[in-house]
Amino acid sequence: MKKVLYVDMDETVANFKERMIELFPFTEHIFNEEETYENGVIIEDCMFKSPRMFRDLEPIEGAVESVLRLSEFYDIYFLSTPFWEVPESFMDKRHWLEEHFGDMCYKRLILSHRKDLSMGSYLIDDRLANGSEKFTGEHIHFDTKEFPNWEVVEAYLMAKLKPTTVEGFNDKWSDYLEDRHYGLAFDDEEVIKYLDSEFEKEILVNPDFSYSQIKLKFGMSRVYAYSDKTNVWEEEIDKMLKGNNVI
Ligand SMILES: [Mg+2]
Repeated sequence: MKKVLYVDMDETVANFKERMIELFPFTEHIFNEEETYENGVIIEDCMFKSPRMFRDLEPIEGAVESVLRLSEFYDIYFLSTPFWEVPESFMDKRHWLEEHFGDMCYKRLILSHRKDLSMGSYLIDDRLANGSEKFTGEHIHFDTKEFPNWEVVEAYLMAKLKPTTVEGFNDKWSDYLEDRHYGLAFDDEEVIKYLDSEFEKEILVNPDFSYSQIKLKFGMSRVYAYSDKTNVWEEEIDKMLKGNNVI
């Protein structure tokens, strides 16, 4: 089963700051300062003057591409805090997501002022407010030294998915494992890493991909999968297993 991954919107996938400064240049200094109540009032006041600004935000660099790629491996929901006093922001966030993420975001928007109440494995968020700090999974603090951009975030989350055991492998690929089959049946870390990397490439080019069994038969590997690469995989696996003295 895919792990649940929440993605914040403003300043994580949507460039709120850029649009705000474009509309109200005098707000620029606010984004370089600590969050204060007074600055919050100024920002809110600007939004009253331009309540539809959420419809026009540019995506953060790399965000759309990374989220779409990650959605192959994670169960992604957008978890965003709208501006309560600006009800237009509720509606425009939904429209904005559809425009940039298409079908991928269908019924995957959660608007909340208590992000800590949402259960899941990861939350990517640029702020600690509205429950992010108390999120019970792992908070990936976007736009910090550790996670400065989407390239780093995507690499981090993909690395989390690298299985090192048979169980981890079949768990990661469970959406592609045919019903009532056991999947990969022999334990060799080199083979697991190899097949994992091959499967990641395969799903990008083969929409019909699935597998049922990967096992040893008569001292050779057998890969049962809907792919025209099964022979290549078997040859490579056999080389690895010979090198590791398994066969
Ligand atoms: Mg944010």
